[in-house]
Amino acid sequence: MRFTKIQTKLARRDNYGHKRSKSDISYLVVHYTGGDGDTAAENATYFSRDFTETSAHYFVDEREVWRSVPDDYVAWHCGTKGTYYHPSCRNQNSIGIELCSRESEGGYYFSSATRARAVQLAKQLMRKYGIPIQNVVRHYDVTHKQCPAPFVQESYAWSQFRAELEREEDEELTIYHKLEDVPAWGKETVQQLLDKGWLAGNNEGDLDLEHYMLRTLVVGFRAGLFK
Ligand SMILES: [Zn+2]
Repeated sequence: MRFTKIQTKLARRDNYGHKRSKSDISYLVVHYTGGDGDTAAENATYFSRDFTETSAHYFVDEREVWRSVPDDYVAWHCGTKGTYYHPSCRNQNSIGIELCSRESEGGYYFSSATRARAVQLAKQLMRKYGIPIQNVVRHYDVTHKQCPAPFVQESYAWSQFRAELEREEDEELTIYHKLEDVPAWGKETVQQLLDKGWLAGNNEGDLDLEHYMLRTLVVGFRAGLFK
């Protein structure tokens, strides 16, 4: 997996909470900055300097990730004096990620580079702390705040973002060498093509089958091209 380089500029100490155990971390909460072309570094600087009484662990933009609160400290990003709509996600057990936003006449949006970087960071954190996909939530899911606006106004965009978090790493680059390596959705196709002798691999019995080739074969198989 690709690791995102993370730079650090910690928030003012009175902008975040107490130390916690890393085993407390079981949710990721996604936010947007509500800015228009602001950068992760600018946000980190702002929270390091100004007294805000709010905070987040990470800021993400098109090019960088900045850490503002260490993972093993509580950040103040999804608390409310009002109603909690999520049964268990709180500041105490979550990591807050802020995505820098942009604004157009149609409203706020995230650039694709910012999204891609946030996906990378989120995957990294999910793996590190064993956070399952159902525990990756929007600020909106916790308190009904309209945050992150691009993922609240368009729930489809949020579903897509979550789907990207579940996607296997670099599967496009995978080469399947043996029948056992082939994912379940492709096994029958490969088996049949081997049985018919239409797929043989190289001399050593190595299938040497690229992911895209496998997909193409499966589509052809389903279309009945190999009957
Ligand atoms: Zn938020």
